[in-house]
Amino acid sequence: MIVGIDLGTTNSAIAYINAYGKPEIIHNREGGRTTPSVILFEGNETVIIGEEAKNNSVLDPFNTIDFIKSEMGNPQYKFISGDIAFSPEELSSLILKKLIEDAEEVLNTKIEKAVVTVPAYFNDAQRKATQDSGKLIGIDIVKIINEPTAAALAYGLLHNSDPQNILVYDLGGGTFDATIVKVNGKEVIVQATDGIRDLGGRDFDDKIIEYAIKVFNEKHGIDLMDIDYVKELQELRRRGENLKKALSTRVESQLYISCKGIREAITITRDQFNEMIKPLYNRTEIIVQDVLHQANLSPKDIDKILLVGGSTRIPLISEGLKEAFGITPSKEVNPDEVVALGAAIQGSILEDGIKEIKDSKLIIKDVSSHSIGVISIDSKSGDKINSIILNRNSPLPAKSRRSFYTIEDNQEAIKLQITEGELEEIDYITIIGEFEIKLPAKLKRDTQVDIEMILDENQIIHVFTSIPQISGFFEEVHIERESNLKSEELEKKKDIVSKIEID
Ligand code: AMP
Repeated sequence: MIVGIDLGTTNSAIAYINAYGKPEIIHNREGGRTTPSVILFEGNETVIIGEEAKNNSVLDPFNTIDFIKSEMGNPQYKFISGDIAFSPEELSSLILKKLIEDAEEVLNTKIEKAVVTVPAYFNDAQRKATQDSGKLIGIDIVKIINEPTAAALAYGLLHNSDPQNILVYDLGGGTFDATIVKVNGKEVIVQATDGIRDLGGRDFDDKIIEYAIKVFNEKHGIDLMDIDYVKELQELRRRGENLKKALSTRVESQLYISCKGIREAITITRDQFNEMIKPLYNRTEIIVQDVLHQANLSPKDIDKILLVGGSTRIPLISEGLKEAFGITPSKEVNPDEVVALGAAIQGSILEDGIKEIKDSKLIIKDVSSHSIGVISIDSKSGDKINSIILNRNSPLPAKSRRSFYTIEDNQEAIKLQITEGELEEIDYITIIGEFEIKLPAKLKRDTQVDIEMILDENQIIHVFTSIPQISGFFEEVHIERESNLKSEELEKKKDIVSKIEID
């Protein structure tokens, strides 16, 4: 069986295809349909993951860790517990382990394979890091798919819809994605996607918390940001999030702060909250307009808006989208579950096992989320520039080639710097790999060197160089990102992770 996993920033979910051929969420051992992506370390060898860890974060903030997903692919990030420094891959693997162990118990079967979803904007280092988290616990992540694609897939299959253009507006705890997908029940073709990697529900919580801290300080002269009040601040975080959720159904609510024996109730109205978060919502709307433009569509071409992610429950979001598109966003799918359901469907397509899904002959086409290129020298100015080879939003798998020229006679080598980013200026792009390609002897200046790039369906980059005038000259380079774990590190970490028990 291949399960589908939505490994979320704030909450995770796992799904499978049931005996009736329908995707279904697998509840965890505590009975929850989603599991908070929060880990509480109890020493080095035992962790608690999920709701209990989230609730305990107030009592034990230094041993609690959340928002791990936003650190995936960041080699600098470490969480220290005792004498062990845990990488984002290891921490994510513990969450995966909890989901898998729970599902194994509920379904009473061994699980060895999974499809895992990631935000559309995840680059290949972040995708590789996600895949490595699976390796650490012996789970084969057979495919990584984009969250909005999974959502559209589940929607398309569950609602067997007529051909339509869907905007998937995905606003979770820490990230935002906007994706345009053409769905006609059997085909899910992504047209364009973009996102903001550091915008989500936590920023909305922060607005409430900042306001409450300010009011409390003005009244009582106590700054809860002070290091002495770590526990109070953690508690305020929890209450701030609850207040935010309450404001999705109520027009006002209260936030209680207690510190040094002082208790204060702060009232916040939905209008006040809307005002606090409007600039953040506006940023998402700019991305939505840009994605529409990339897909060559205008707002009137959108037939359906699919809301994904817990933060889309905020009324301002659906009201804003309704105003921009003239249609009411769809409430047909559960925003917390639809991504995992889509991943389970993708799993069963790969497995080729479930008759109903097989018969529906689903076709899924995704697009690339970043432009990929190389650094070259501008022949006019002599400056270094980013030359894009594969454009963003290219249908996957994508393949493209560009020709470059040697700059001097007898040039011995070319330095290949692979880039990720949209602009020509090299200050605004990321270099994701550097290679030296040795050239054959006695080449004249201006010899053509072709660089071909392939981005496969998992958005992993393959780069090839060739010299048309010299048959047989062909080099493939493998990008081993600095930011990813080396194979020997993986083995070592596997050992560490296997010793950790989930309580
Ligand atoms: P996700 O990453 O999709 O699980 O989204 C989690 C985010 O959704 C968190 O920031 C939650 O606080 C937020 N959220 C969940 N339910 C609500 C709600 N009813 N109103 C506002 N935000 C919510």
